[in-house]
Amino acid sequence: NGVVEQLDVLVIGSGPGGYVAAIRAAQLGKQVAIVEKEAVVGGVCLNKGCIPSKALISVAHQYEATTHSREIGLQVAGVSVDFAKVQEWKQSVIDKLTGGVKSLLKGNKVQRIQGEAKLVGDDLVQVTNGEETSLYRFAHCILATGSRPIELKAFPYEGRILSSTEALTLPEIPKSLVVIGGGYIGIELGQTYAKLGAKVTILEGSDSILPGFEKEMSRFVGRKLKKLGVEVQTGAIAKEAQQTVGEVTITYEVKGELHQVSSEYLLITVGRRPNIDQLGLETVNMKLTERGFIQVDQQCKTSVQSIYAIGDIVEGLALAHKASYEGKIAAEVIAGLNSSVSYKTIPAVVFSDPEIASVGLNETEAKNQGYTVSIGKFPYAANGRALSLNAGDGFVKIIGDSATGAILGGQIVGPEASNLIGEIGLAIEKGHKLQDIAHTIHAHPSLGEIIMEAAEGALGQGIHQL
Ligand code: FAD
Repeated sequence: NGVVEQLDVLVIGSGPGGYVAAIRAAQLGKQVAIVEKEAVVGGVCLNKGCIPSKALISVAHQYEATTHSREIGLQVAGVSVDFAKVQEWKQSVIDKLTGGVKSLLKGNKVQRIQGEAKLVGDDLVQVTNGEETSLYRFAHCILATGSRPIELKAFPYEGRILSSTEALTLPEIPKSLVVIGGGYIGIELGQTYAKLGAKVTILEGSDSILPGFEKEMSRFVGRKLKKLGVEVQTGAIAKEAQQTVGEVTITYEVKGELHQVSSEYLLITVGRRPNIDQLGLETVNMKLTERGFIQVDQQCKTSVQSIYAIGDIVEGLALAHKASYEGKIAAEVIAGLNSSVSYKTIPAVVFSDPEIASVGLNETEAKNQGYTVSIGKFPYAANGRALSLNAGDGFVKIIGDSATGAILGGQIVGPEASNLIGEIGLAIEKGHKLQDIAHTIHAHPSLGEIIMEAAEGALGQGIHQL
């Protein structure tokens, strides 16, 4: 009946969810194939998300540091950005990583199939590649098809209206840029181009940028945006855009009043939509959640026994490390292990300037859950390493349970927050207490000491704090 092959595990999508699931399933002795419709592996994260955005952020950061280094005694003349070279370097970073994933798949004997996959039964997938179609029968399938930018009717992606994908591959630094949506992608990209010289305006519908994070944290980013000359308009509802030669004019409403702003480009970052509409889900009667994601249980099982789903197509934070984590769980469950997900220590990070990172509960959540909390909060400005890096803007906050000393959560705003948050995550994961962090010797001078000082503070034992 035309079936090419019978597989233990068929993974659809090679992003950080899919490729990790495939490798883990292969490690556990399964015969695995992974289907990807693009010519490259790695998904959004490696090709048009996490990695290219972090590469551009790094360039913008280094450029800003170089051009604003007078106060530390560096006089640098003649600094300029060769943006074509920046893009070339960014692509080389992507190529190294996607090349690495390709080798890992091969090394783990995961078969790669190129083409667009569609379920045609609860044990059958059809893969189309150009004119060719092939059928694959599977015992288990892991869906990991990710997400794409939401396209608003009034702002179709064409010409000067960009999604994050096009904003990452611009041939030149825009002179001016309006960003609709002050979530993490809008802030990361808006701030990057502002640092590289663009005049940036951010329109956000709610009453603050980065609405998922406490204002105590996001206001640091707000302050930095102001310093960069970025105009942030909150409570702004974007209505329409008109493109003329070389310009796009955006009409938006604030408190019932209409305003207009023009710029060279308009970037829309209002969220992402799961890639499930073309997957043939109707043929297997797949259950969705109210918000339109694939419904899964604690073991990443969907309503169809043989099919699992992970990453951006299921509810929860749309982040690469969540997709990979779920990928490992799904593979382990398929291999007969008794694994299940727990999101207690999943970090949420924004690579803004300064960076923001949160893990576990914040103060409000802890109080709402009935805890009496011990809070320790220590500023970067009192840390020797931070000051010698000329990076004194930020804090570490640790939330402890006063009854037991257990660490409930932590928030960091400041340089390297993304790297530092792991220590607090590990402490929560392992059930460590405030005193465990406070009693761990941290290298001096290091940013890690800020975490130790915050834990000491929560215990009322702060040395460098009154
Ligand atoms: P994806 O990475 O979306 O991969 C899905 C893959 O499936 C794609 O390769 C797609 O081509 C393929 N596919 C889809 N349908 C089919 C089909 N029918 N047949 C075959 N193949 C198919 N997350 C972070 O954690 N940190 C960050 O710093 C970060 N920065 C980001 C910056 C930007 C600009 C964007 C857009 C996203 C960022 N993210 C970040 C989010 C992160 O990229 C996603 O959460 C992550 O990629 C989701 O992984 P996934 O495996 O679910 O899907």
